Amino acid sequence: MQILHIPQDYRPRANLLQGRNILVTGAGDGIGRSAALSYARYGATVLLLGRTGSKLEAVYDEIEQAGGAKPAIIEMDLASASEDSYRTLADALGNEFERLDGLLHNAALLGDRGPIDSAGYDTWRQVMEVNVNAQFALTRYLLPLLQLSPGASIVLTSSTVGRVGRAYWGAYAVSKFATEGFMQVLAQELENTSRIRVNTLNPKATNTAMRRLAYPAETPSDNPSPEDIMGAYLFLMGDDSAGITGRAFDAR
Ligand code: NDP
Repeated sequence: MQILHIPQDYRPRANLLQGRNILVTGAGDGIGRSAALSYARYGATVLLLGRTGSKLEAVYDEIEQAGGAKPAIIEMDLASASEDSYRTLADALGNEFERLDGLLHNAALLGDRGPIDSAGYDTWRQVMEVNVNAQFALTRYLLPLLQLSPGASIVLTSSTVGRVGRAYWGAYAVSKFATEGFMQVLAQELENTSRIRVNTLNPKATNTAMRRLAYPAETPSDNPSPEDIMGAYLFLMGDDSAGITGRAFDAR
Protein backbone atom coordinates (compact mmCIF):
# COMPACT_ATOMS: atom_id res chain seq x y z
CA MET A 1 0.00 0.00 0.00
CA GLN A 2 1.34 3.39 -0.98
CA ILE A 3 1.04 5.97 1.82
CA LEU A 4 0.58 9.62 0.85
CA HIS A 5 1.33 12.79 2.80
CA ILE A 6 -0.17 16.22 2.42
CA PRO A 7 2.09 18.94 0.99
CA GLN A 8 4.49 20.00 3.75
CA ASP A 9 3.86 23.70 3.21
CA TYR A 10 0.07 23.29 3.16
CA ARG A 11 -1.75 26.34 4.54
CA PRO A 12 -5.56 26.19 4.33
CA ARG A 13 -7.26 29.39 3.21
CA ALA A 14 -9.45 31.03 5.88
CA ASN A 15 -12.76 30.22 4.15
CA LEU A 16 -11.82 26.65 3.16
CA LEU A 17 -14.98 25.11 4.62
CA GLN A 18 -17.36 28.07 4.42
CA GLY A 19 -20.95 26.91 4.00
CA ARG A 20 -20.05 23.21 4.38
CA ASN A 21 -21.95 20.81 6.64
CA ILE A 22 -19.56 18.29 8.18
CA LEU A 23 -20.31 15.42 10.54
CA VAL A 24 -17.57 14.31 12.94
CA THR A 25 -17.89 11.14 15.03
CA GLY A 26 -16.23 11.04 18.43
CA ALA A 27 -16.33 14.84 18.40
CA GLY A 28 -16.25 15.25 22.17
CA ASP A 29 -12.62 14.40 22.87
CA GLY A 30 -9.16 13.88 21.43
CA ILE A 31 -8.59 14.23 17.70
CA GLY A 32 -12.33 14.40 16.91
CA ARG A 33 -12.80 17.37 19.22
CA SER A 34 -9.88 19.15 17.61
CA ALA A 35 -11.17 18.39 14.10
CA ALA A 36 -14.64 19.70 14.97
CA LEU A 37 -13.16 22.95 16.34
CA SER A 38 -10.87 23.33 13.29
CA TYR A 39 -13.64 22.67 10.78
CA ALA A 40 -15.81 25.29 12.53
CA ARG A 41 -12.91 27.76 12.55
CA TYR A 42 -12.59 27.36 8.77
CA GLY A 43 -16.28 28.09 8.26
CA ALA A 44 -18.12 24.75 8.50
CA THR A 45 -21.34 23.95 10.30
CA VAL A 46 -20.24 20.97 12.34
CA LEU A 47 -22.49 18.09 13.38
CA LEU A 48 -21.00 16.75 16.60
CA LEU A 49 -21.66 13.04 17.09
CA GLY A 50 -20.54 11.24 20.24
CA ARG A 51 -21.67 9.19 23.21
CA THR A 52 -21.05 11.69 26.05
CA GLY A 53 -23.46 14.63 25.94
CA SER A 54 -21.50 16.85 28.34
CA LYS A 55 -18.35 16.64 26.18
CA LEU A 56 -20.30 17.47 23.03
CA GLU A 57 -21.92 20.44 24.78
CA ALA A 58 -18.50 21.75 25.80
CA VAL A 59 -17.33 21.61 22.16
CA TYR A 60 -20.60 23.24 21.06
CA ASP A 61 -20.00 26.10 23.52
CA GLU A 62 -16.40 26.52 22.39
CA ILE A 63 -17.49 26.81 18.75
CA GLU A 64 -20.20 29.34 19.60
CA GLN A 65 -17.84 31.41 21.76
CA ALA A 66 -15.34 31.52 18.91
CA GLY A 67 -18.04 32.89 16.61
CA GLY A 68 -18.42 29.74 14.50
CA ALA A 69 -21.59 28.63 12.72
CA LYS A 70 -24.15 27.09 15.09
CA PRO A 71 -23.26 23.40 15.43
CA ALA A 72 -25.59 20.44 16.00
CA ILE A 73 -25.27 17.77 18.67
CA ILE A 74 -26.01 14.10 17.95
CA GLU A 75 -25.73 12.02 21.12
CA MET A 76 -25.38 8.43 20.00
CA ASP A 77 -23.55 5.39 21.35
CA LEU A 78 -22.11 3.66 18.31
CA ALA A 79 -21.59 0.45 20.29
CA SER A 80 -25.32 -0.10 20.69
CA ALA A 81 -27.00 1.92 17.91
CA SER A 82 -29.61 -0.04 15.93
CA GLU A 83 -29.97 0.07 12.17
CA ASP A 84 -33.18 1.98 12.71
CA SER A 85 -31.38 4.72 14.63
CA TYR A 86 -29.04 5.32 11.67
CA ARG A 87 -32.04 5.53 9.35
CA THR A 88 -33.83 7.92 11.71
CA LEU A 89 -30.71 10.06 12.05
CA ALA A 90 -30.33 10.33 8.28
CA ASP A 91 -33.99 11.34 7.93
CA ALA A 92 -33.65 13.97 10.65
CA LEU A 93 -30.49 15.42 9.10
CA GLY A 94 -32.17 15.41 5.68
CA ASN A 95 -34.98 17.54 7.12
CA GLU A 96 -32.61 19.99 8.76
CA PHE A 97 -29.78 20.27 6.25
CA GLU A 98 -29.81 20.74 2.50
CA ARG A 99 -26.87 18.39 2.05
CA LEU A 100 -23.84 16.91 3.79
CA ASP A 101 -20.39 17.91 2.50
CA GLY A 102 -18.14 15.92 4.77
CA LEU A 103 -18.06 12.90 7.06
CA LEU A 104 -15.12 12.25 9.38
CA HIS A 105 -15.24 8.75 10.86
CA ASN A 106 -13.06 9.25 13.91
CA ALA A 107 -14.70 7.51 16.90
CA ALA A 108 -13.02 4.27 17.85
CA LEU A 109 -12.42 1.88 20.73
CA LEU A 110 -9.02 0.48 21.58
CA GLY A 111 -10.37 -2.70 23.19
CA ASP A 112 -8.08 -5.22 24.86
CA ARG A 113 -4.62 -5.89 23.62
CA GLY A 114 -3.29 -9.43 23.98
CA PRO A 115 -2.97 -12.66 22.05
CA ILE A 116 -5.83 -13.86 19.86
CA ASP A 117 -5.94 -17.18 21.75
CA SER A 118 -7.25 -15.46 24.86
CA ALA A 119 -9.16 -12.51 23.35
CA GLY A 120 -12.65 -11.97 24.79
CA TYR A 121 -15.45 -12.35 22.26
CA ASP A 122 -17.61 -9.59 23.80
CA THR A 123 -14.85 -6.97 23.62
CA TRP A 124 -13.91 -8.12 20.13
CA ARG A 125 -17.49 -7.62 18.98
CA GLN A 126 -17.75 -4.21 20.63
CA VAL A 127 -14.59 -2.95 18.92
CA MET A 128 -15.87 -4.20 15.57
CA GLU A 129 -19.26 -2.59 16.20
CA VAL A 130 -17.81 0.89 16.84
CA ASN A 131 -14.76 0.80 14.55
CA VAL A 132 -16.25 -1.05 11.57
CA ASN A 133 -20.01 -1.62 11.60
CA ALA A 134 -20.93 1.90 12.70
CA GLN A 135 -18.79 3.32 9.89
CA PHE A 136 -20.69 1.20 7.39
CA ALA A 137 -24.15 2.02 8.77
CA LEU A 138 -23.53 5.75 9.08
CA THR A 139 -22.04 5.94 5.58
CA ARG A 140 -24.75 3.74 4.07
CA TYR A 141 -27.59 5.91 5.37
CA LEU A 142 -25.89 9.28 4.88
CA LEU A 143 -24.80 8.63 1.26
CA PRO A 144 -27.97 10.20 -0.24
CA LEU A 145 -27.25 13.46 1.65
CA LEU A 146 -23.57 13.34 0.66
CA GLN A 147 -24.59 12.85 -2.98
CA LEU A 148 -26.28 16.27 -2.86
CA SER A 149 -22.96 18.04 -2.24
CA PRO A 150 -21.00 19.48 -5.16
CA GLY A 151 -17.95 17.62 -3.78
CA ALA A 152 -18.25 15.66 -0.55
CA SER A 153 -15.35 14.09 1.33
CA ILE A 154 -15.48 10.96 3.48
CA VAL A 155 -12.41 10.55 5.70
CA LEU A 156 -11.92 7.33 7.64
CA THR A 157 -9.42 7.12 10.49
CA SER A 158 -6.80 4.43 10.15
CA SER A 159 -3.74 3.46 12.14
CA THR A 160 -0.24 2.15 11.59
CA VAL A 161 -1.46 -1.25 12.88
CA GLY A 162 -4.21 -1.21 10.22
CA ARG A 163 -1.66 -1.19 7.44
CA VAL A 164 0.87 -3.73 8.70
CA GLY A 165 -0.31 -6.32 11.22
CA ARG A 166 1.16 -6.29 14.71
CA ALA A 167 0.99 -9.06 17.32
CA TYR A 168 -1.24 -8.45 20.35
CA TRP A 169 -3.18 -5.57 18.80
CA GLY A 170 -6.16 -7.87 18.23
CA ALA A 171 -9.54 -6.44 17.26
CA TYR A 172 -8.25 -2.86 17.04
CA ALA A 173 -5.68 -3.70 14.35
CA VAL A 174 -8.14 -5.93 12.48
CA SER A 175 -10.79 -3.17 12.60
CA LYS A 176 -8.36 -0.69 11.04
CA PHE A 177 -7.52 -3.15 8.22
CA ALA A 178 -11.30 -3.38 7.67
CA THR A 179 -11.41 0.42 7.55
CA GLU A 180 -8.80 0.46 4.78
CA GLY A 181 -10.79 -2.22 2.91
CA PHE A 182 -14.05 -0.34 3.32
CA MET A 183 -12.40 2.82 1.98
CA GLN A 184 -11.06 1.03 -1.12
CA VAL A 185 -14.36 -0.69 -1.94
CA LEU A 186 -16.43 2.45 -1.44
CA ALA A 187 -14.00 4.72 -3.29
CA GLN A 188 -14.12 2.44 -6.35
CA GLU A 189 -17.90 2.25 -6.26
CA LEU A 190 -18.26 6.04 -6.08
CA GLU A 191 -15.41 7.03 -8.37
CA ASN A 192 -17.32 7.09 -11.64
CA THR A 193 -20.81 7.62 -10.32
CA SER A 194 -20.51 10.56 -7.93
CA ARG A 195 -18.40 13.48 -6.78
CA ILE A 196 -17.77 11.92 -3.37
CA ARG A 197 -14.17 11.14 -2.52
CA VAL A 198 -13.16 8.59 0.13
CA ASN A 199 -9.74 8.34 1.79
CA THR A 200 -8.15 7.07 5.00
CA LEU A 201 -6.00 9.12 7.35
CA ASN A 202 -3.62 7.73 9.96
CA PRO A 203 -3.04 10.45 12.58
CA LYS A 204 0.04 8.58 13.90
CA ALA A 205 1.16 8.99 17.53
CA THR A 206 -0.93 11.83 18.96
CA ASN A 207 -1.34 12.89 22.59
CA THR A 208 -4.90 11.80 23.48
CA ALA A 209 -6.60 9.63 26.10
CA MET A 210 -6.44 6.63 23.76
CA ARG A 211 -2.73 7.07 23.14
CA ARG A 212 -1.98 7.38 26.86
CA LEU A 213 -3.95 4.18 27.49
CA ALA A 214 -2.20 2.28 24.68
CA TYR A 215 1.31 3.43 25.58
CA PRO A 216 1.46 4.11 29.34
CA ALA A 217 5.27 4.17 29.31
CA GLU A 218 5.45 7.11 26.89
CA THR A 219 5.84 10.70 28.02
CA PRO A 220 2.55 12.09 26.63
CA SER A 221 3.98 15.49 25.75
CA ASP A 222 6.60 13.84 23.51
CA ASN A 223 3.80 13.24 20.99
CA PRO A 224 2.20 15.98 18.89
CA SER A 225 -1.13 17.31 20.15
CA PRO A 226 -4.30 16.89 18.07
CA GLU A 227 -4.04 20.60 17.09
CA ASP A 228 -0.60 19.92 15.58
CA ILE A 229 -1.99 17.52 12.96
CA MET A 230 -5.05 19.46 11.81
CA GLY A 231 -3.49 20.45 8.48
CA ALA A 232 -4.09 16.94 7.14
CA TYR A 233 -7.67 16.87 8.46
CA LEU A 234 -8.40 20.20 6.76
CA PHE A 235 -6.66 19.22 3.51
CA LEU A 236 -8.67 16.03 3.13
CA MET A 237 -11.98 17.65 4.10
CA GLY A 238 -11.70 20.74 1.91
CA ASP A 239 -11.55 21.31 -1.84
CA ASP A 240 -7.73 21.25 -1.87
CA SER A 241 -8.02 17.44 -2.01
CA ALA A 242 -10.65 17.46 -4.79
CA GLY A 243 -10.09 14.57 -7.19
CA ILE A 244 -8.12 12.48 -4.68
CA THR A 245 -9.92 9.28 -3.77
CA GLY A 246 -9.16 5.72 -2.70
CA ARG A 247 -5.88 6.76 -1.11
CA ALA A 248 -4.26 6.14 2.29
CA PHE A 249 -2.72 9.16 4.01
CA ASP A 250 -0.51 9.75 7.04
CA ALA A 251 -1.12 13.00 8.93
CA ARG A 252 2.64 13.65 9.10
P1 NDP B 1 -9.91 9.18 22.09
O1 NDP B 1 -10.18 7.94 22.84
O2 NDP B 1 -9.21 10.31 22.74
O3 NDP B 1 -11.26 9.73 21.46
C1 NDP B 1 -12.16 8.84 20.84
C2 NDP B 1 -13.50 9.50 20.69
O4 NDP B 1 -14.42 8.51 20.19
C3 NDP B 1 -14.07 10.00 22.01
O5 NDP B 1 -14.71 11.24 21.83
C4 NDP B 1 -15.07 8.91 22.38
O6 NDP B 1 -16.17 9.35 23.16
C5 NDP B 1 -15.57 8.49 21.01
N1 NDP B 1 -16.18 7.19 21.09
C6 NDP B 1 -15.63 6.04 21.54
N2 NDP B 1 -16.55 5.07 21.56
C7 NDP B 1 -17.71 5.60 21.10
C8 NDP B 1 -19.01 5.11 20.91
N3 NDP B 1 -19.32 3.86 21.25
N4 NDP B 1 -19.97 5.92 20.42
C9 NDP B 1 -19.67 7.20 20.12
N5 NDP B 1 -18.46 7.75 20.29
C10 NDP B 1 -17.49 6.95 20.78
O7 NDP B 1 -9.11 8.72 20.79
P2 NDP B 1 -8.18 9.52 19.75
O8 NDP B 1 -8.66 10.92 19.63
O9 NDP B 1 -6.79 9.22 20.06
O10 NDP B 1 -8.52 8.71 18.42
C11 NDP B 1 -9.26 9.23 17.34
C12 NDP B 1 -9.06 8.29 16.18
O11 NDP B 1 -7.68 8.25 15.81
C13 NDP B 1 -9.47 6.85 16.45
O12 NDP B 1 -10.06 6.30 15.30
C14 NDP B 1 -8.13 6.15 16.72
O13 NDP B 1 -8.20 4.79 16.45
C15 NDP B 1 -7.24 6.90 15.76
N6 NDP B 1 -5.80 6.85 16.07
C16 NDP B 1 -5.30 7.53 17.13
C17 NDP B 1 -3.93 7.53 17.38
C18 NDP B 1 -3.34 8.29 18.53
O14 NDP B 1 -2.11 8.19 18.73
N7 NDP B 1 -4.10 9.03 19.32
C19 NDP B 1 -2.99 6.81 16.50
C20 NDP B 1 -3.64 6.12 15.41
C21 NDP B 1 -4.99 6.16 15.21
P3 NDP B 1 -16.00 9.67 24.75
O15 NDP B 1 -15.21 10.94 24.79
O16 NDP B 1 -17.39 9.84 25.19
O17 NDP B 1 -15.28 8.50 25.32
